[in-house]
Amino acid sequence: MSSYTKQYWLEKNANLEIESRAFIAGKFVDALNSETYAVVNPATKEQIANVVACTEQDVDTAVKHARDSFEQGIWANQSPSDRKAVMKRLAELIREHQEELALLESINVGKPIMDAMNVDILGAAACFDWYAEAIDKIYGEVAPTDGLNIATITKEPVGVVGAIVPWNFPLDLAAWKLAPALISGNSVVLKPAEQSPHTALRIAALAKEAGLPDGVLSVVTGHGHIVGKAMGLHNDIDCITFTGSTPTAKLLMGYSAESNMKPVWPETGGKSPNLIFGDCELDNAVEHAAMGIFFNQGEVCSANSRILVECSIKDAFIQKLKVKAESMVVGDPMDPDTQVGALIDSNHAAKVRTYIQEALDEGAILVTGGLGDCTTNSVPPTILDNVTPEMNIAREEVFGPVVVIMPFDDQEDAIRLANDSIYGLAASVWTTNLNRAHLVSKRLKAGTVSVNTMDALDMSTPFGGYKQSGFGRDLSLHAFDKFTQLKTTWIKLG
Ligand code: ADP
Repeated sequence: MSSYTKQYWLEKNANLEIESRAFIAGKFVDALNSETYAVVNPATKEQIANVVACTEQDVDTAVKHARDSFEQGIWANQSPSDRKAVMKRLAELIREHQEELALLESINVGKPIMDAMNVDILGAAACFDWYAEAIDKIYGEVAPTDGLNIATITKEPVGVVGAIVPWNFPLDLAAWKLAPALISGNSVVLKPAEQSPHTALRIAALAKEAGLPDGVLSVVTGHGHIVGKAMGLHNDIDCITFTGSTPTAKLLMGYSAESNMKPVWPETGGKSPNLIFGDCELDNAVEHAAMGIFFNQGEVCSANSRILVECSIKDAFIQKLKVKAESMVVGDPMDPDTQVGALIDSNHAAKVRTYIQEALDEGAILVTGGLGDCTTNSVPPTILDNVTPEMNIAREEVFGPVVVIMPFDDQEDAIRLANDSIYGLAASVWTTNLNRAHLVSKRLKAGTVSVNTMDALDMSTPFGGYKQSGFGRDLSLHAFDKFTQLKTTWIKLG
């Protein structure tokens, strides 16, 4: 049991200092045109702050400082072990400020405070540590040339990286981009989602405190269609790393084509299938299936939002999943017992409710959950049965605590249904048959397949999608491929 109480968090929140200005060239600054916008706590609907709304000019300033810092080599030319020391200190500072950062995350996005503490903040710190530990163990290559030539293959930072991140795991996903990009010597301009700027701003200050030189990391707050677009179109940003929706990723690819052909690395949406075979360990499968969709209010790009269950165990599975869903504590994110908090904002909550209502109108059966109290941004864990593959609810990313159940007859049927999606981020398979586990995993078109577990993830394994879930990979050593270029140097001897 946690020793934290709701009272503790409420008091801490009342005394919380919130920085709302952009962070450019080592300083917190207003936008050049002094514009701001309101950021609201989705759980209370109270305004938290007026945050700086940057424009193209502010992006320009941040990029100019990023470029200068990169070309001067004040960070890029430090030895890997010196960069490692700074990033490890940043990881330490994140852990030292765990409560403050968790609180900022929770009031920004409505997620349960203990999840913010244990998953988001510790995850971000672990990410900086992991890449810091990796960087001084990576070597270049020497090509097999004849005896009169030497050709070396070295990895160089790309230069100025633009990182655009969403609101569902604001600090964690920022860390997935910042840690490999910074440690490999790049300068970075980070754009948090408009709803969730506060941990990004805090971490910029902590990075400075850890010893990151001014200009190497800037945070430009504001609207996607202004700030994100300006970054996408900027001729002096060398690559964009992005997590967010598929339509925005497509826009960014277009901006790249219109400007300097910068690589755009998108990690986007999903409609991940969870395949439950009749020979699985049922209770284990149910427990994980619930977490796979209801964790973080279902606002997870790899959420297992389609449950495909073998006909023979469908009724038993649904009964157990219903009990589990109804046992989950939906409530105030500040309460340490809460498991499902508030959705990000009123518009999104309305969108999730519309998906549920449409599905019911088309003949889906409500097993549990539903619209909930429509005056709040909370939607209860919702299970829909009698869903067919053509319905929107079975095809589109709802990004809420809503799961659909579809039956299958046999293995082929299950694989066909699972792959029937424009997305391919993740998939899960539940079976005790080893042969089936391997065969099905090979045939699923998904970046990560979890067998007898759910949404398995580690710093050491790549994360990213097939199809319209994106390309390129976050996490693992493979993330360096996005933030480095290969340089071939030929030396003719004699
Ligand atoms: P979501 O639907 O999860 O909010 P978005 O793709 O809209 O996903 O947002 C993810 C990130 O992309 C956010 O930081 C947002 O501000 C940014 N963004 C939104 N629209 C654009 C755009 N036109 N160009 C660049 N970035 C954008």
